[in-house]
Order: sequence, then C-alpha cells, then structure tokens
Amino acid sequence: MEERKPGRVLIGEEELERRTAELAREITRDYEGLDLVMVGVLKGAFVFLADLARRVELPLEIDFVAVSSYGSDTESSGVVRILKDLDLDIAGKHVLLVEDIVDTGLTLKYLVGLLKERGPASVEICALLNKPEARKVDLEVKYSGFEVPPLFVVGYGLDHAERFRQLPYVGVLDEMEGSGRES
Ligand code: 5GP
Repeated sequence: MEERKPGRVLIGEEELERRTAELAREITRDYEGLDLVMVGVLKGAFVFLADLARRVELPLEIDFVAVSSYGSDTESSGVVRILKDLDLDIAGKHVLLVEDIVDTGLTLKYLVGLLKERGPASVEICALLNKPEARKVDLEVKYSGFEVPPLFVVGYGLDHAERFRQLPYVGVLDEMEGSGRES
C-alpha cells in the first residue's frame, strides 16, 4: 500500500489552543464545587485531554478507557469493544467523557450507557471534533470544539493506521484524492 500523507491543514495550532482554552473556561464554570472526573477515550483523545485538563482550574481526577470501534483503516467496523476499563470508581461523581471526534456517535452512545450503569452523578461529553452529518444515533455533545465536514482527519491525537497522532494540527488525509476512504 502506498504511504498516505496528511494533506491540507484543517485546524491549525493557534485555533486549537484558543478553542481548547474556551472549552476549559466553560468546564471550569460548569463544574465548580462538583466532583469532576475527566475520562479520556484512548488513544485519540490523549493530546486534547492533556491540553484541556491543564486549563481547567478545578480539582479533578483523570482516567482513561480504551475501546475499539475502527480497524486500521478508515471504515467503521460498527463494533464497540472495551479494551481498557476505568481504574476509578465513578459512583456519585460527575463524569466528563473527553473524545477526539464524534462521527457516527456509536462509540460514545455505548460508553455513556455503560458508565451510567455505575451510578455517576452525571455523564457529559466533550469532543474536540464533531461530524454531525455522519451521525447515526442521537447523542448530546455538551462541549464541542469544532464541526468538521465528513472527511477523514488526522493529527492532534487522531491517527491513520497508528500514524500522524503527533502532528500539532488537524489535517485532512489524502485531501488531493478525495475522502481518503478509498483502498
Ligand atoms: P463513532 O463511533 O462516532 O463513529 O467513531 C468515533 C471514533 O472513530 C473516534 O474516536 C475515532 O477514533 C474514529 N474516527 C471517526 N472519524 C475519524 C476521522 O476522521 N479520523 C480519525 N483519525 N478517526 C476517526
């Protein structure tokens, strides 16, 4: 297979920084005085969570879950499986799920349902990117960074076949060839 390279920059570093700071201010305001647990969905959310959490001016706990929803290519498998569960007990706490991107919404719908069974005080979603046109299930995304078109994006934590996560910006994969979903 030919090596894929990210094409144009969709969201640059400064824009990511500005929006992350705005979201952190909203979260700081909304969760003041509450027991907050920020839960990053691995691996894609690791960069966003690190930047976001450092700007939230509240005491909080951090944990991670890992799920598999996509294979190594750009097609959704439609299957959600827990690969790594939470370490923390979330009963009575306010959970904020931090995700890189909401596409069909299947992954988060499943995760929200699963976490709600554990008796948290609340479960909300903070997603850096949102592809509303691709949504297959109803899902409330309380904090949404950017709405993006239905293209395959990489960088700032998001990968293609485990590559490009370290890019400091969000770029469109194979922009020159269309959606990046071929082959
Ligand atoms: P959903 O269950 O909402 O369809 O999928 C969410 C997951 O699919 C994300 O956490 C991410 O791992 C993956 N995903 C969806 N769209 C993209 C995309 O444009 N680029 C990358 N790298 N991953 C995506």
